[in-house]
Amino acid sequence: MKLRFPKGVKNFEVPIYDQRVYVTTKQSEVDAIDRYMHCGNIEWHLRRHSAGYCVHEVQEQTGIPLFLVVLRRPIKPHAIVHECGHLALMIAERVGIKVSYDDQEPFCYLLDWLFAKVTAELKR
Ligand SMILES: [Zn+2]
Repeated sequence: MKLRFPKGVKNFEVPIYDQRVYVTTKQSEVDAIDRYMHCGNIEWHLRRHSAGYCVHEVQEQTGIPLFLVVLRRPIKPHAIVHECGHLALMIAERVGIKVSYDDQEPFCYLLDWLFAKVTAELKR
């Protein structure tokens, strides 16, 4: 049986870095993505009761990276910023951008852009 990525999960592309980000508020989608990824990452489950979390995993069979932001309802703006901070660092690491005090703009622009995008996805 061919493993397919769960349909209907909100997502967007980060064009300049060519990465896809998924956003969900539903545990059922997290579980479906977890099965698809075959990662068996227990931390996904340990984090079930937090306000949100962010995951960067690579699909075992295809090598395709996945970024996932999970937010619990009711969604708080500070939780979105917090997870977008993690997301920006994960994307930067993935694409080889060095985040440093001496060169702050790449990280801050990415964080700013991700926050706007994740917020817009959650409203769709
Ligand atoms: Zn955190």
